[in-house]
Amino acid sequence: MYWPPTAQDLTRLLDSLRWAAEHSPYYRRLLAAAGVQVGELRTYDDFRRRVPRTAKTDLVANQREHPPFGDFLAVPRSEFASLHTSPGPILIPRLASERGGTPVLRESIKAMGVRPGDVAHVTLSYHIMPGGLRLHRAFEEAGCLVLNGGTGNSRLQVELAKAWGATVYAGTPSFLANLGDTARELGLDPRRDLSYRVGFSTAEALTPVLRRDLQDTFGIELFDHCGEAQIGPLAGECRVHDGMHLHALDLFCEFLDPETGEPVGEGGTGELVATQLGPRALPLVRYAPGDVFRLLPAGCACGDPSPRVVFVGQVGAIRKIKGVLVHPAQVHRALSEFPAVRRFQIVVDRPAGERYDRAVLRLGLAEPAPDAPALARAVAERVKAVALIGMDVELVAEAELPEGAAAPRFADVMVDRRGHA
Ligand SMILES: [Zn+2]
Repeated sequence: MYWPPTAQDLTRLLDSLRWAAEHSPYYRRLLAAAGVQVGELRTYDDFRRRVPRTAKTDLVANQREHPPFGDFLAVPRSEFASLHTSPGPILIPRLASERGGTPVLRESIKAMGVRPGDVAHVTLSYHIMPGGLRLHRAFEEAGCLVLNGGTGNSRLQVELAKAWGATVYAGTPSFLANLGDTARELGLDPRRDLSYRVGFSTAEALTPVLRRDLQDTFGIELFDHCGEAQIGPLAGECRVHDGMHLHALDLFCEFLDPETGEPVGEGGTGELVATQLGPRALPLVRYAPGDVFRLLPAGCACGDPSPRVVFVGQVGAIRKIKGVLVHPAQVHRALSEFPAVRRFQIVVDRPAGERYDRAVLRLGLAEPAPDAPALARAVAERVKAVALIGMDVELVAEAELPEGAAAPRFADVMVDRRGHA
């Protein structure tokens, strides 16, 4: 569905909620405890204000308490068609009719310019986790010849990709980089000897530097894509490469301000809360995996009217600075273009008597910069473009910042001194 919800979307949402309340002991109990009768909900605001959220931790705890599947289940076990697992571990049973996000992936694949007859090389894991199989099914349905590469065995994978003339790569960007290195070790030129034209990049951050490197190595056009293990594929880039189109055909997606819980509009930054539509073996209502996205303004040059989102980061580390939600991962993305920067810290303060926050971005450098003012200016401009916030930049030696002031955990990046003056 697209934002804002139409009357039809709302009907489908409330029908799915009613189905979950009738079939899933967990949701029957949750809604009863919250005093919610589905028949009383009339508008989206009723739904948002009254139906409680489900966190990933609720699902993990419930499966531990009632092994193996928990009591989220809405159908008897004899009706399951397959069983996937995701880290937690969380068991994800699936009905044959659920299709595991295949229609969503097909939209994304089409937007990337994949055509029937393309040879798709899928390198996500086919073991235990759902990712590899989901992609495999979608490429098959799109009329492609699919190689089930899976993970590892990079020499064999390069040989297979070459022998079959694979035109589409689907997997993590780091494994694609690995295949490039392996091809060179085998005396091959990845541009000339391999035929990748389209790269479906998922399950890892596709930084601008990595994207450029891979495009140079393979002569490939890379497309960022994101999804989540429980709720499946979500959004992917089109050939305009300005944000990812939300292809949430079987999900009702809300994007809510992490501080106020209010829905955000175009240009806003909000936490994803998703409700699965239609019957499910394990239905999820208002499921919040903790992912925060920025919503881009409507109207992409490709003509697809679906909303576009940019992944910002996980909700825990996010802070509102000068009214803008900022995540360390966004700033890290901007800084990844400056290899001299090893660590970084964002110090937010509101000096006494001032009405506005002041944000200082402290950069820990491996060695003193030859032209410090130019570096500070370039970084400030890049951060402003990526994270939409102006910060004063201060250059310090790497050792002056704690080790945790870096990717991937960003534990010591945010220093919030507001309210402590
Ligand atoms: Zn587009």
